[in-house]
Amino acid sequence: MAVATRAPLIAGNWKMHGTLDDSAELVSMLKKVVARPKDAQMLLCPPFTYLMAVRKWLKESNILLGAQNLSHQPDLGAYTGEVHGSMLKDVGCSFVIIGHSERRQFYGETDDLVAQKFQVAQAAGLTPILCIGETLEQHEKGKTESVVVGQMLAVLKTVGVAAFSNAVIAYEPVWAIGTGRTATPGQAQKVHALIRATISKHDATISSALRILYGGSVKSDNAKVLLSMDDIDGGLVGGASLKAEEFAAIFQAALN
Ligand code: PEP
Repeated sequence: MAVATRAPLIAGNWKMHGTLDDSAELVSMLKKVVARPKDAQMLLCPPFTYLMAVRKWLKESNILLGAQNLSHQPDLGAYTGEVHGSMLKDVGCSFVIIGHSERRQFYGETDDLVAQKFQVAQAAGLTPILCIGETLEQHEKGKTESVVVGQMLAVLKTVGVAAFSNAVIAYEPVWAIGTGRTATPGQAQKVHALIRATISKHDATISSALRILYGGSVKSDNAKVLLSMDDIDGGLVGGASLKAEEFAAIFQAALN
């Protein structure tokens, strides 16, 4: 599929939800929406256990497949319960979400670990979707900008700016994830512009081509206005990605 520079990317993060049957139904409904190649991409990130099945169902569709996490280990080996990037590639993934706030919060993932995951993802031929964003407390203390820039710089210093030519950033204010609260388009745009400016200080060409997604209670009724902002290049969608009609409507909002 030919994709324009910064073509919108609408990514569904299914998290730990659903059954195999639910997943089959969701995919079959979404395939009807993305029947023809368009100047926008839809990406589905199911749980590990459903990746193979979803890959099969997506055959001959333009919908992309991604994973929600991967091991930070650079090599295959005796690491019980872990999944290597090459395995994700093997089952048809092209993207992997890294540093999601739920992994930072519940599994103690640090900026250093996230940076390692960024590197091993790219080494395996995957495009990392690097999630960054401030907590409610940080937001209320006016620390949004310093937190977001700090999270970016922590990764940037390890991977280097060139690595961002094959990466996506998702700005996800933690207080907006799964809460029904959404950053206003103006608030989100301001942070997205800051993210782009931070990369631009290191490389203006990479920065202007970098896709920056917004995540945090994106729904069919707020997608259009969020996606119309200059530096918002798509969405990382949790809850609404589990409902075919909702997710399809968000995708449609990205098309025009
Ligand atoms: C997410 O978990 O990445 C997310 C944005 O979730 P939700 O859309 O449910 O807020």
